[in-house]
Amino acid sequence: GVAACLQEVTKEYQLGKTTVQALRGISLSIAVGSYTVICGPSGSGKSTALQLLGCLDMPTTGRVEIAGQDVVALSDKARTSFRAQHLGFVFQNFNLVPVLTALENVEYPLQLTVRDAAERRERAQKMLEAVGLGTMLQRRPAELSGGQRQRVAVARAMVKRPKLVLADEPTANLDRRTGAELIEMMRTMQREHQTTFILSSHDPQMIEGADERIRIEDGRVVERVQRSSPALAM
Ligand code: ADP
Ligand code: ADP
Repeated sequence: GVAACLQEVTKEYQLGKTTVQALRGISLSIAVGSYTVICGPSGSGKSTALQLLGCLDMPTTGRVEIAGQDVVALSDKARTSFRAQHLGFVFQNFNLVPVLTALENVEYPLQLTVRDAAERRERAQKMLEAVGLGTMLQRRPAELSGGQRQRVAVARAMVKRPKLVLADEPTANLDRRTGAELIEMMRTMQREHQTTFILSSHDPQMIEGADERIRIEDGRVVERVQRSSPALAM
């Protein structure tokens, strides 16, 4: 099945009187349960594509479908709840709440959906154990390394068991080895939970093991490569 797709999508940003064309007619579809990396040079439109696939922004023209839902057709309110229900995000800069512990950061997204506080705690704790942070539940972000913070961010993105997790350059602020460990951990989560992962990166480590690699340049898809199949020029 298809986890998410963009059909003939354009995205323009208005900068004063100037129009920036970030995406120039992109079509792509992401298979359920896959680990897909969107790569390409800086400014090529990776973050924009990820924001649209994550329902954080709307296209200028074209269609965006997530889990079979045409998300452009939803009202703002419906879209917000759709996003909260189906999607998880991991950002380059971790975006953790500094005054909360690791456990509290991961519990936070469950506030609105899980009534029982003990259940919230238990689910957050299990997810932190799954990312290898079972002994660091009470630490605040400042008391964790960059790699550990990003693991907390992955746990937070996954605690609601979303169908789709999006990560914008998740290894950008990590050293090579920590980045490789994070990638391995995300792949394990993807396999065990059958979660679809879409990441943007120009980190070759992250590109290597991808089920599918989509290369964007200047707002267009220039290459799609599926694992163990020859390059398909587009
Ligand atoms: P930047 O955004 O810094 O211009 P790129 O995304 O062009 O960087 O490439 C960064 C690194 O990722 C390079 O080492 C390049 O070889 C590798 N890379 C980029 N795209 C691909 C790809 N489609 N397949 C394999 N490696 C890639
Ligand atoms: P990437 O993630 O590949 O670096 P982006 O999607 O961030 O690329 O940006 C694509 C293009 O859109 C760039 O030219 C960038 O300057 C522009 N852009 C991105 N976000 C905005 C914005 N909020 N306002 C104006 N221009 C933007």
